[in-house]
Amino acid sequence: MHTDVNKILITREGLADRVQQLGREMTTLYLGLDSPLIIITVLNGSMVFMADLIRHMPITMNLGVLGVSSYAGATTRSQGAKIVMQLDTDIRDRHVLVIDDILDTGNTLRLIHEDLGKLKPASLRTAVLLRKPARAPSDVTVEFIGFDIEDRFVVGYGLDFDGRYRNLPYIGVLKPDCYQASAAGTEPAGRTM
Ligand code: 5GP
Ligand code: MG
Repeated sequence: MHTDVNKILITREGLADRVQQLGREMTTLYLGLDSPLIIITVLNGSMVFMADLIRHMPITMNLGVLGVSSYAGATTRSQGAKIVMQLDTDIRDRHVLVIDDILDTGNTLRLIHEDLGKLKPASLRTAVLLRKPARAPSDVTVEFIGFDIEDRFVVGYGLDFDGRYRNLPYIGVLKPDCYQASAAGTEPAGRTM
């Protein structure tokens, strides 16, 4: 275990099992579409989840990306979401599945749903790897949820703190000293996706 991690919340094996299960459910739902499913990955936190997930989905698909930032550098509370990289794919009349890492306050997904909804997709669904039910608002709907977790700041499997820890193979709780020391000692480094 990484020395900055307090405890492992979801193991590598736990992630692999659940992601496989989600991939199967999505495959059943989207099988037989008349055009390729469009999978939109919210950068950067969802890259690892998406990469594992799509390899459990033997259906025709196209991939797109969207950049949203919610944390100003070295902080652990959302500062309000902002689109920092526009969608690179035409989604009009297409079936769209948005992949995000975690549903916390819902600011990020509310913004994405509003934006993508205007582009008139045939359908728009969302999958999140993690949800913090203690904080998630009732007006933001997600169709697929990997795991509900407690309201702790987690890293790994794509999720970062100040750009770090995305490559950890598990979801772990970051030691509070790590972000307290960092927040006190450095200026926020600008928005990270
Ligand atoms: P929301 O906009 O729902 O408050 O937050 C969603 C975004 O905030 C996520 O896509 C993720 O980038 C970030 N986020 C929320 N909670 C956590 C957390 O516990 N750990 C990390 N690393 N990022 C989080
Ligand atoms: Mg994110």
